This record gives sequence, C-alpha cells and structure tokens, in this order.
Amino acid sequence: MDHEPSFRESVDLMVDRAMNAIGLDQGTASAIKSCNSVLQVRFPVRIRNKIEVFTGWRAVHSDHRLPAKGGIRYAPYADQDEVEALAALMTYKCAIVNVPFGGSKGALLIDPAQYERDELELITRRFTLELVRKGFLSPATNVPAPDIGTGQREMAWMADTYKQLQPTDINYIACVTGKPVHHGGINGRVEATGRGVQYALQEFFRHPQDVAAANMQGTLEGKRIVVQGLGNVGYHAAKFLSEEDGAKITAIIERDGALINEEGLNVEDVYQHIIQHHSVKNFPGARFEENGKSVLEMECDILIPAALESQITLENADRIKARLIAEAANGPLTYGADEILHKRGVTILPDAYVNAGGVTVSYFEWIRNISHIRFGRMQRRHDEMRGHQVASMLETITGTKVAGHHRDSLARGADELDLVRSGLDDTMRTAYQEIREAFLEGDGIQDLRTASYVVAIRKIARTYLDVGVY
Ligand code: GLU
Repeated sequence: MDHEPSFRESVDLMVDRAMNAIGLDQGTASAIKSCNSVLQVRFPVRIRNKIEVFTGWRAVHSDHRLPAKGGIRYAPYADQDEVEALAALMTYKCAIVNVPFGGSKGALLIDPAQYERDELELITRRFTLELVRKGFLSPATNVPAPDIGTGQREMAWMADTYKQLQPTDINYIACVTGKPVHHGGINGRVEATGRGVQYALQEFFRHPQDVAAANMQGTLEGKRIVVQGLGNVGYHAAKFLSEEDGAKITAIIERDGALINEEGLNVEDVYQHIIQHHSVKNFPGARFEENGKSVLEMECDILIPAALESQITLENADRIKARLIAEAANGPLTYGADEILHKRGVTILPDAYVNAGGVTVSYFEWIRNISHIRFGRMQRRHDEMRGHQVASMLETITGTKVAGHHRDSLARGADELDLVRSGLDDTMRTAYQEIREAFLEGDGIQDLRTASYVVAIRKIARTYLDVGVY
C-alpha cells in the first residue's frame, strides 16, 4: 500500500480482512458493511446579532439492534466520511462487548472553544431539534452520548430539549447517555472509557502467552507507557494505570508538545497544569519536546493513542518502538500503518475493543433510565444485613470477635459505582477472552483486530440469518 485510504475505507478494509478470513458470503458482507442512513442538517442560529449556519451529521450504520448508539462530537474538522467510519466502529464495538445496540455517530462542524456557554446551549438545542424532528434521536431508536468536544453539559441540554418536544414519552431521560448524575446519568460514566482501557490491559496481562508474544513479561507493574492525549479517555486511563497498577507514564503527548520523564509522570499534576495553563509547557519535573508527535516513536512498552484518528500512518509506522499499542481513540492507526506494525510483530489491541468501556457504561445508564431505578437501590441494605448475619454467625461458631474492618467489608452492600465497575470489568474480560479464542483459531485470523472483527461479524451475521432480510 502506497497511499492512505480515507478513514471509512480504512475501517472497511480492516473489516474485509475478517470477513475473508471466515469466508462470509458477499451479500451478508455488504449488508453488514453498508451505512444504513446518514442525515445531514444545516440550521441557522443567531449569534452575537449575526446569523450563523451550522452543519451537522448523524449516521446510522446499523439498526439490527435498537436503539442505535454512539457519540456526537463537536469539531472544526468533522465530515461525513469520518462520521460514517465512526458509526461503523460503533456497530462492531457494541457487538464485541455484547451491548445490544446498533451503531451510530454524529458530529457538528464547530470549534466549541470559539463560543460562550449560552451560545453553545442555543446551538446544541437547535441541533437536537433537527435530530428529533428527523427521527434521529429518541430513547427507542437513536441514543447519542458524549464524544470529542461534548460532555455531560451538552447531554443535559439534549435531554431537556427532547423532553420539551416529547413530554409524554415516559422514557425521555433515556434519549441520551453520559448525562450528569443528578440529571439521570450514572455514576462512573465519565471515567468509563479510560477505566475500560485499564481493564482491557489488565486482562491482556492475565495471559502470559499473549504478553510473551508482545515481547514482554510480568504484569503492568513498572511497564513504560506513552499516552497521546490527556482528554477524558487518556487522562483516566493514564491515571488508573499509574496509580492502581504501578505502570510508569513516561510520556504524555498533547496538542502543543510532549512531556517526558523516564521515572514516570504524575498524571494528576500534569492534568491540573493543563487546566491552569491550557498547555503542557513549563511543567516542572519533565523534559518538554516541542514536536509532540515524534514522541509516539519513543522507546516504551505500551503506546496508548487516546486522541484523534489517523495518528500512526504510513509515514511514521516504521519508527514506532512500542511492543503493544492499545487504541484508546477511535481509528488512531490507518490501515497501512496497521499492516506495517503487524508485519513488525507489534501487538495491537484494537479500538473497537479497547475503547468500548464508554458505550458499555452508556448501556448501563440507558437500562437505569428505562427501568427508572438506581442500580443497587433494592439490594444494598439487604446485602449489608446479610453481611452482619454472617459476621455474627462466625463469632458464635468460633467464639472470637470478627475484627471491625472485616465486619465492615463483609457488611458493605454494593453501591451503583461498585456495580458499574464490576459490570464493566466483567464485560472487558469476557470480550477479550472471546477475541482471544477467535485469534487462536488461526487460519486467516492473524491479529487481534481481525479476531475482534470476526467476533463482531459472527454475532451481527447471526441476527441477519435468524431474522432474515426483508
Ligand atoms: N463516544 C463514545 C464512543 O466512541 C461513547 C459512545 C456511547 O456511549 O454511546 O464509544
């Protein structure tokens, strides 16, 4: 390959590899691959006494399961090709982690940094109106979530706009996920994608054979990690991996340069520095490298691209020195880069698996919303009581007092955050095991990305076969 295909073509080429490996028939293959519908809207908003026209998209890649699910990004570089590629990734992502949703994605062409809060609210509410009117947003059919440039705030505006338009929809609050917790959101959603990256890596390191194939050994403890992007995903992943698993974050790459410290950076300190100074420059205790992108090529064990798509390309793939790449962003490697790195024996944990923690916890939030009850509300005190009963029984049998901290941990009923983390951890572990099993089948399945797509495609194809095409 001597030229880079577009992002959407890149995803399709990767999927083709998996379809060929399992000999999927052409008809089913194109049914799965094609993007079902794309909405493009243009709408005017009066800003600072001038009328501005905004362009947005919402693509539904698949609706074999409903609702179709996926984030909405606000970015000055968005286009339809990108939205379709991201919607396709959502389809495969949901299938890999057994989230019963179709795949969708949206974007608004805007640089949010150029607008005030009230202006963004106006624009978001107007965009939501377009999506609802055209049937591209509802709890039953299409449920957006945060992505690059959007967060809890935008989701709250969207949910509120939908509620005003559909006041009789009893499930209105489930029309978007990633909402603030006091507004129908779920505990643990903000950190979910980063947490999922951590759980994915933890599961990878539970398989010594896989670790050895990536030319490493042992656990995450002491592993040198380079992270690109300290946004919501990169920040949480880096923080958890360094603070809880003992990994060393040896470099953080941001828009305006990179910070390097072979002894390991304090992620929270870097994050606070960025919040204060809007830049990584002048961070004490680290070497600054102006050419941030070149730091992707730094010697390390694990590289976590957690920023934008197409960061590792035909141009720099040859110089990447990481043993393992965990794709926390969507599409950070182009198809050509993926081929080069595979040939060079670099293990790649693909985006459709690694960053699926976000949509997994979105699924939990959606269930919480349509069941109208917080997880753990019915059982928590009951579990607590049972714990005390067990402790007291132990005391009666043994004649010794159960130490206070043992009694407390035994009697602690799980709250919503405990349950969300447990559900996410289980999801990430199970998905890796399914991917691994497919990988071990061999034949045309030569890497974990192809194996992930095989897992997804088999599940999606089954729904076409079971239900038929009409
Ligand atoms: N935007 C996130 C993603 O790319 C989350 C999607 C969701 O929660 O629906 O996976």
